[in-house]
Amino acid sequence: MNKEKFYITTPIYYINDIPHIGHAYTTIAADVLARYYKKLGREVFFMTGTDEHGAKIAEAAEKAGKSPKEFVDGLVPKFKTAWEKLNIEYDEFFRTTNKEHEKIVQEIVQKLKEKGYLEKREYEGLYCVACEKFYMPDELIKGKLCPDHKREVIKYKEENYFFLLSKLSEKLIDKIKTGELKIGPETRKNEILSKINSGLDDVSISRAAVDWGIPFPGDPEQTVYVWVDALLNYYTATKIYKNGPSWPADLHLLAKDILWFHAIVWPAMLIALDIKPPKMVFAHGFFTVDGQKMSKSIGNVLDPIPLVDKYGADAVRYALLREFPFGQDGDISEEKIAQRHTSDLANGLGNLLNRTLSMINRYELKVKDESMKLVVDGAKDHQKEIHSFIENLNFSEALFDIWTFYIKPSNELIDKEKPWELIKNDMGKTTAVLQYCYSNLISIQEIIYPFMPETAEKMKKQLETKKPEPLFPRIEEKQ
Ligand SMILES: [Zn+2]
Repeated sequence: MNKEKFYITTPIYYINDIPHIGHAYTTIAADVLARYYKKLGREVFFMTGTDEHGAKIAEAAEKAGKSPKEFVDGLVPKFKTAWEKLNIEYDEFFRTTNKEHEKIVQEIVQKLKEKGYLEKREYEGLYCVACEKFYMPDELIKGKLCPDHKREVIKYKEENYFFLLSKLSEKLIDKIKTGELKIGPETRKNEILSKINSGLDDVSISRAAVDWGIPFPGDPEQTVYVWVDALLNYYTATKIYKNGPSWPADLHLLAKDILWFHAIVWPAMLIALDIKPPKMVFAHGFFTVDGQKMSKSIGNVLDPIPLVDKYGADAVRYALLREFPFGQDGDISEEKIAQRHTSDLANGLGNLLNRTLSMINRYELKVKDESMKLVVDGAKDHQKEIHSFIENLNFSEALFDIWTFYIKPSNELIDKEKPWELIKNDMGKTTAVLQYCYSNLISIQEIIYPFMPETAEKMKKQLETKKPEPLFPRIEEKQ
């Protein structure tokens, strides 16, 4: 029997730096969905990777005294290690320096040319080398500095190939309105539609002065623009990997700053090629750290690795997705992660598991291995709601529900009924109270698995052997 497929991607991250908490956020969310659908029996393909071409990389490599390839080879392990530490179970790690990818990109660009969607034009403008992007004068700080890099732009003229995006507006709007291409959240979809309605400019998709990239087919003076090369990874992967994903992708996850490329340029390229657009593009928001924009110059960029080392992968996964709705901007800090670790995890879930199993053991109670849905009416509705939250990428609500409907009531029941006193004269009721908690824990174990795979695994063992061990040990503060 053919399983229903699910192809999910993160962006391939630009490899000029080490991964930060924003990269981790997108990747954790993708991992949750991949694990969730795998558990439901779908054939999941989850891909992440790195974007390795372009002038910024060449420049950084030169500064480091390395060739670009040496330089990117040295950074790939940093991403892989971060994902391993965060328990990310991806199927492939895509690198744009993959030779097969480079060949397919050239074939595709050639096809765009043949279909009449490319045109060579002279272009002059103000250019930031670091962004690899032209700016309008009013976009610059004091008329001369790149708003991103605060470095001086240069006046620059070159011949480029332009992708005739302006020709594709109507088709693009049609795909979005019919739902063939879904864009989420809804507010972002409306932004994209109004952008298209206000008119799309053709975009330059080649560079003359950049050597570190894929040579433009039929014109060796030019290099394929790094963004075109990068976006195509989602599609070339379906040709490269045996038993790999099949097109169209079900879901591209990304941060809101690159939604324009993913919701406009990318589907337009596919439409021009008579290839289906991805089924859904979903943009999440940005983090502030303690209320401030995360930036290198402020020095508040959160590195996920030390947080994982201190609090554990599951606590970081939980805190990031629990703190605010996926799709909106929100605030995060180490303090917030620490609070979640203590209140929701150690005192909430950890305590529930520990005392339930301890008392079952101590009082030698016989409990049945039944999950909650068999014990209490209404539990099924909560489960349905939690599933629908996950499927709609509403992770914070899903986690809120798990804590509200399963963990909190169980802990409250124990506090209220005090089994340690009840056992003295009512064995039956003591068993019933702890059966309720035990069944809840079986349900919790199943439902938190995509979010907290390591914890779910530990819980499963403990529930089977009924031997309690701390799930979330106290954090030792380093002096
Ligand atoms: Zn710049």
